[in-house]
Amino acid sequence: LFITFEGPEGAGKSTVLQQIVKRMQEEKIEVLATREPGGIEIAEKIREVILNPAHTAMNERAEALLYAAARSQHFYEKVLPALQKGKLVLCDRFIDSSLAYQGYARGIGIDEVLAINEFAIGKRLPDITILFDIEPEVGLARIQKHSSREVNRLDVESLAFHNKVREGYQEVIKRYPERIKVVNADQSLEQVVEEVWNILTKVLNE
Ligand code: C5P
Repeated sequence: LFITFEGPEGAGKSTVLQQIVKRMQEEKIEVLATREPGGIEIAEKIREVILNPAHTAMNERAEALLYAAARSQHFYEKVLPALQKGKLVLCDRFIDSSLAYQGYARGIGIDEVLAINEFAIGKRLPDITILFDIEPEVGLARIQKHSSREVNRLDVESLAFHNKVREGYQEVIKRYPERIKVVNADQSLEQVVEEVWNILTKVLNE
């Protein structure tokens, strides 16, 4: 089963993912946790190129292609082999990030970005996606409190951009209403973990 976590900055998805993995390990559920962009050496290198704050000249199409390149390498090197062995894979971000950020928020178009991603990874989509929904103001305020977080090129984007990302995710939900489960991320960490846990255990027991 292939499960992805999606959402804007400061939604807490990476923290929730860690907690979910911990709980799965306690329950003896075998899981491979990974992230995008990155997850393996080549893709982590591409991540450094994409998110380097000095790379302000990067245009949105180069950005979309680099995300797709990182995704392709990560998918074929790590995700697909695990899925083929019947493993449960939990991935922090995947194709929906590209559709929302590059396709919608950067204005390339969701269909165009979907097309380069089909070139990169074929038509395999996640089985279930948890979308952590939060007001951009709330998410960004959370990030400012956590100074240990890595600085990235997205940090200079305006609130308007982050609002567009949220709208982008809403568009993506319209396309995949069955696959994407929305969780209100503006709750305590415990509450969010509990909701996500309930969704996942229901899916795992189906
Ligand atoms: O999930 P994480 O916070 O590690 O993502 C790193 C950065 O990459 C974030 O600022 C995120 O918004 C950005 N990103 C993006 N487009 C994607 C995936 C991630 O702009 N397709």
